[in-house]
Amino acid sequence: MRTEHTEHTECTEQSAVTVLGLGPMGRALATAFVEAGLRTTVWNRTPGKDTELVERGAVSAPSAEAAVAASELTVVCVVNYDAADAVLRRDEVADALKGRTVVNLTADTPDRARNTARWAAEHGVRYLDGAIMTPTPTIGTPHAVFIHSGPEDLYREHQPVLDALGGTHTHLGDDPGRAAAYDIALLDIFWTSMAGYAHALAVAKAEGISPRELAPFAQGIGAILPPIFEQTAEELERGDFSGDGNPITSAVSSMSHIVHTSEAHGIDAGVMRAAEGLARRAVGRGHGADGFTRIAQLLSDR
Ligand code: NDP
Repeated sequence: MRTEHTEHTECTEQSAVTVLGLGPMGRALATAFVEAGLRTTVWNRTPGKDTELVERGAVSAPSAEAAVAASELTVVCVVNYDAADAVLRRDEVADALKGRTVVNLTADTPDRARNTARWAAEHGVRYLDGAIMTPTPTIGTPHAVFIHSGPEDLYREHQPVLDALGGTHTHLGDDPGRAAAYDIALLDIFWTSMAGYAHALAVAKAEGISPRELAPFAQGIGAILPPIFEQTAEELERGDFSGDGNPITSAVSSMSHIVHTSEAHGIDAGVMRAAEGLARRAVGRGHGADGFTRIAQLLSDR
């Protein structure tokens, strides 16, 4: 695995890239390429999304096949792999892509990524998969985070163009599904955290605490998590489940207070009930004195 912090792209004016998909993220990617001085061709299923990009210097292609024929490298960024496949797997597009490279930055499951990689190999298309871990305003800045997987030599070949997107790029391995697997795991953290925060804001409001009053304390809770993430990972790898002064029985008690307060206000406590259920299962299996890391181990033990 290698990580590079991008200062500036090494691309020349001759470098060309195509972007398929001009939703908010596709537009951000195309804008970064244009601003880095790359000849950028764009296409979107629904016309009219490229007006601003064309004003900045992008070339609008009349069709997906014309777009991919304009560059050695095509970056795809659409809603999911149903959409990506609908664009890429049309005969005209597949023919135009033969011998060229696709970097698919669309988010979906690892299996879908592997499936599209297989299709690409069968059609003579060079294929890299990837995921974007940061929102649109970060693209083209040092704060962007990209992960990639697929053949490493192909990644190295196109790295100078990808670097034009700014931020950090990490190649995670040859398995084309690996970037999507990281993406799924990381978004698991993100969405369960956001569901917890949405619930916390509702319970706080019911108790007369405004969102702005809670926010600085919420940030404090967020800040204690990074060292806990690290410690949990180390414990899980060592097989160390000792409660260390913070047993699961205590976590269950804390969680049940949240469930009771929430439901007393008529607020759906489903997310917290799910977490409490996991902890209670661990206690039921005799692990009440263990630490929270035990829950990760039980979930992995299928
Ligand atoms: P969306 O996820 O809403 O994707 C919109 C794009 O998908 C548009 O270009 C849309 O075309 C296209 N699309 C949808 N269905 C089809 C189809 N059947 N055939 C062809 N094109 C289709 O918006 P984003 O641009 O924000 O996201 C793109 C990808 O980037 C997603 O996978 C997302 O998860 C990922 N991502 C986005 C982030 C963000 O902050 N926005 C952050 C990290 C990742 P049309 O205009 O014609 O509908």
